[in-house]
Amino acid sequence: MRDYKRFFIDGEWVTPAGREVIEVIHSGTEEPMAQVLAASAQDVQQACEAAARAFNGWATTPVAERAEFLTKISAGLAARAEEIGEVVAAEVGMPRKLAQGIQAGLPTFQFGVFANIARDYAYESKVGSSLVVREPIGVVGAITPWNYPLHQLTAKVAPALGAGCTVVAKCSEIAPCSAFILSEVIAEVGLPKGVFNLVTGFGPEAGEALVIDPRIDMVSFTGSTRAGRRVASLAGEHLKRVHLELGGKSASVILEGADLDKAVSSTLNMCFLNSGQTCSATTRMLVPAPLKDEAVAIAKARAESFTLGDPVVGEGRLGPLASAAQRDRVRRYIRLGVEEGATLVTGGAEAPEGLARGYFVRPTVFADVSNSMTIAQEEIFGPVLCILTYDNEEEAVAIANDSPYGLSGAVWAADQESATRVAKRLRTGGVDINGGAYNPMAPFGGYKQSGIGREFGTFGFEEFLQVKSLQL
Ligand code: NAD
Repeated sequence: MRDYKRFFIDGEWVTPAGREVIEVIHSGTEEPMAQVLAASAQDVQQACEAAARAFNGWATTPVAERAEFLTKISAGLAARAEEIGEVVAAEVGMPRKLAQGIQAGLPTFQFGVFANIARDYAYESKVGSSLVVREPIGVVGAITPWNYPLHQLTAKVAPALGAGCTVVAKCSEIAPCSAFILSEVIAEVGLPKGVFNLVTGFGPEAGEALVIDPRIDMVSFTGSTRAGRRVASLAGEHLKRVHLELGGKSASVILEGADLDKAVSSTLNMCFLNSGQTCSATTRMLVPAPLKDEAVAIAKARAESFTLGDPVVGEGRLGPLASAAQRDRVRRYIRLGVEEGATLVTGGAEAPEGLARGYFVRPTVFADVSNSMTIAQEEIFGPVLCILTYDNEEEAVAIANDSPYGLSGAVWAADQESATRVAKRLRTGGVDINGGAYNPMAPFGGYKQSGIGREFGTFGFEEFLQVKSLQL
């Protein structure tokens, strides 16, 4: 059992008395695996005070020095990659080997990337008679979810620190362990006190206290659209910059002439990644009506090849969901899909056989889904693929765009040109063309209710900068 009953504030580990203890549960065994504290508003304020005190010193630290810290943090995370992979696998349900690559490897890589971006960025430019300078925005409040816990935290902390901002982070109470490992690494590399602070706790109490604190200049939030709306409205009252990375219901549009086997298999893999607990998951697969039967058969065979198993032991290709609440929610959606008239091709709401413990959900595929059904409109966040059909390209684009979300998507066609033409018509922040690989340097973020702003790469770095014009 990991004991994380403490916060990292002003360069010290502090343990206030009398705080509620939150148990972190192992998704595969349902046993407690760690304990953290629920921060009060007072704890959050203490962290904000420390971050505000540290701001001037950090903002004026030469950028090469700031970048050097990021490089050291990257090395510190790399040294603990195995441990990070294991704790996140246990918390979230992603198989351990995969978690080592994605949940530990990507954050390690990103700290290195942001060291380079911060070092090489052109902070000054001329516009006519003005010198335009870019300065750190100030103290950043970072609120993060549980599904890619260290990756989402890194998306905020690495660029913010590189830009010269100080940070108060409130990580998810469901998967907080990797945030503690990051804080331990930060303590080891000797980052000046107060530059990075970590509290844990619940959204309505600790999260909201962070959003409304007057010392916080910018709130960077990743999580559900529901909580994002609340965060944005609170931030709006205080007129502070708000960055939101929210939910998705992304479409994979398969056009006639595409390699159907590859397109369906890849769509399903992207839908089931991390047991479907991925904001950019391609959860709606759009196929030409005449190809429906063939596509359904491929999806069924593929889904049934996903074996389930303990994520840490690494027995299966698909792990459990992160919590009992999440498992129950996904099963409710599966039952709703059946009630709404979709055809259950494989999977279902019943518990999978032979797994006495762990929050498992059967890999599920629905066909004959209409886009107005709840399962096609709402984010399910589990291993559930919806197959929809269309008659022509216009209709495919209309269905793909008929969503309150606009985070990601995919287009598959006989050639890159046709796929790109359709991709440009999708109202989403990103589209993978014919299986184009994930690019960790590309800007990532949403249209519509999937968010405001972009993370990663230079675009993600600039979110933490303020612009000043000096008239010469
Ligand atoms: P969540 O909204 O329940 O919680 C996210 C974080 O916000 C947690 O730290 C939580 O404690 C906090 N929070 C909750 N209510 C709050 C409030 N009123 N004020 C301030 N903070 C509050 O989301 P989750 O269940 O942890 O994560 C899953 C969601 O995150 C999904 O909707 C997923 O699509 C989304 N997500 C989006 C991206 C992206 O980049 N767009 C990435 C990962 C996850």
